[in-house]
Amino acid sequence: MTTQVTARTVPYKEKKPFDYSPFLRKGKLPHIWCAGCGHGIVLKSLLRAVDATGIAKDDLAMVSGIGCSSRTPGYVDFNTMHTLHGRATAFATGLKLAKPRLKVIVATGDGDAMAIGGNHFIHACRRNMDMLILVYNNYIYGMTSGQASPTTPEEKISTTSRYGSIEPAFDICELAKTAGATFVARGTAYHAQELEKTLYEGLMHRGTAVIDILDSCPTYYGRFNKYKNVAEMMDKIEKDGTVSVAQAAKLSPEKLEGKQLRGILHRSERLEYCDGYKNLVDRVTG
Ligand code: SF4
Ligand code: MG
Repeated sequence: MTTQVTARTVPYKEKKPFDYSPFLRKGKLPHIWCAGCGHGIVLKSLLRAVDATGIAKDDLAMVSGIGCSSRTPGYVDFNTMHTLHGRATAFATGLKLAKPRLKVIVATGDGDAMAIGGNHFIHACRRNMDMLILVYNNYIYGMTSGQASPTTPEEKISTTSRYGSIEPAFDICELAKTAGATFVARGTAYHAQELEKTLYEGLMHRGTAVIDILDSCPTYYGRFNKYKNVAEMMDKIEKDGTVSVAQAAKLSPEKLEGKQLRGILHRSERLEYCDGYKNLVDRVTG
């Protein structure tokens, strides 16, 4: 039983100009995302990263739940599943067990992954099944008109927190690491080229990889929280609100106050779930 797709072993190399068309289902375009939404930037970075890995489209599967970011599988020419709210990692787990040769990517939002899908998320991390979980984190439920999600920062306005959220927000990376994910990273749509490299590393990792991707929902989060425009929103949240791991090493705790770290935050090796399952089958039947 083959449990891993063939990928290039050469280091990441940026490629430009880049032809996106072989990776897209052009009949499904134009996409549904609002002007200024960060999801399109993430899609572009992902396609460039996929190309850099050399993984064939037929060896890739993308699984999503429900939400604006979960529309992504409709646009990519991989094996795709658009499933139920919060259940993307559960479907991805079944798919990977049935077809362990596939590289499985989960596209999920902060509401989808951290609220209704929270349990599936932590158990996927615990099992260390080979899948890349992309959490498109725009701090709000976008598709259903801007309710607070588990990542909405305190005091921020949403449809369900009109006077400011009083709930502490989840740190997706801390949760993933604590639950057992063996690759944990954070990127932003603002830092698209850096995100491309992080996505490449996540795709090349064997085991559960989680990337918390900060992107923007100008239509709800931006309007509710009085950002003048998308550029100001991206500047304040993604540029000024984050710092790379390398930069952080040179900054004092005071300067790091309120900033989120970007880059690869955790990487370790542990038995991958499908390999463990194969070992079990061999032991029982051998
Ligand atoms: Fe993007 Fe928000 Fe529009 Fe959804 S509602 S497409 S998350 S900007
Ligand atoms: Mg969201």
